[in-house]
Amino acid sequence: MLNELYQKLEERWLEMVNIRRFLHQHPELSFKEVNTSKYIADYYQNIGVQVQEGVGGNGVVATIKGKLPGKTVALRADFDALPIHDEKDVEYRSTVPGVMHACGHDGHTATLLVLGKTLHEMRDQLSGTIVLIHQHAEEYAPGGAKSMIEAGCLDGVDVIFGTHLWAQEPYGKVLYRTGPVMAAADRFEITIKGSGGHGAQPHKTKDSIVIASQLVSDLQQIVSRRVNPIHPAVVTIGSFIADNAFNVIADQAKLIGTVRTFNPEVRDFIEKEIEQVIKGTCLSARCEYEYNYDRGYPAVVNHAEETDLFVQYAKHIDEVHAVEEIEPQMGGEDFAYYLEKVKGTFFFTGAMPENADIAYPHHHPKFDINEKSLLIAAKSLASATLQYQEKHSKKESFSQ
Ligand code: MN
Repeated sequence: MLNELYQKLEERWLEMVNIRRFLHQHPELSFKEVNTSKYIADYYQNIGVQVQEGVGGNGVVATIKGKLPGKTVALRADFDALPIHDEKDVEYRSTVPGVMHACGHDGHTATLLVLGKTLHEMRDQLSGTIVLIHQHAEEYAPGGAKSMIEAGCLDGVDVIFGTHLWAQEPYGKVLYRTGPVMAAADRFEITIKGSGGHGAQPHKTKDSIVIASQLVSDLQQIVSRRVNPIHPAVVTIGSFIADNAFNVIADQAKLIGTVRTFNPEVRDFIEKEIEQVIKGTCLSARCEYEYNYDRGYPAVVNHAEETDLFVQYAKHIDEVHAVEEIEPQMGGEDFAYYLEKVKGTFFFTGAMPENADIAYPHHHPKFDINEKSLLIAAKSLASATLQYQEKHSKKESFSQ
């Protein structure tokens, strides 16, 4: 069955490209993906696939029931775009000013739609159920995954697979990792409440810029001196706001930053340590502060058995030249929530454009993918799905 499925996907590669390009031209921001959501639901409805709209927001879930009994496999693709102005000079560039598919989610959606259609056609040969999770709002916390799970998209699901097209890795490569693969991504905000005044009379003020500067520097010691070096972590201040006239001492300064971790205990520890450092700095400066720490997505942690199963079979896909272990990525992904509930794995599909000189990073205004990678993504997901169902239907019949 797998070979027949592969062949059909090969024949439909152009359809994937066309869908991807259409979506690329019509991107929508996180939580505002009304038309994209409708496009996905219509696609399934037109071919007679059972589909549920408005799942936890703009999410869409399609279900394909195989003729034979077996396990339920969920496949997930996200479909939101980013607030970036498309600077590419291609016919399929975004038609929406300031909005762009700069992370490949258009490709994820095209892949899953065509794979879903093909699996639906072959449902008489399927042992088990396939749940196609089209998720809105991956790019913007709290994200769409959590609300879709709360709305029941994982009910009855045994395992989940998902992929991210990865333009930083060459076409033909598939990358996997067991255990933590993407970081927990949190956001924090610190307001230093000094006491402003005349730039010529610093002794009558509590200069919030000087205090906050000290703090930026002290916070860097959390990772370098307080966290066990075995555990990767990042503390970054991305924003320092204290806008005043040249001769005015700032009353308040605001620092906004992000924390990236893999280990939940390190995550808790850093959240607390940041406050300790702020307290210390503000105590010596005799000023007040406000501290807010917002937890973003947890770390994406892949399950060993499901990752091994995926790797074992991904190697046999003709277009795949290499299946390699990837280093953990400090970026975040709300696929994490699915893996907290059910077993599964999240892998990367190399999608670097052929001319590597134009391999812009994800979220870049000139970001693009190698569209040939859509076929590898589709085959990889197909392989994981069918091999999992086959393996577990065998296990069940043995135990009977
Ligand atoms: Mn992404």
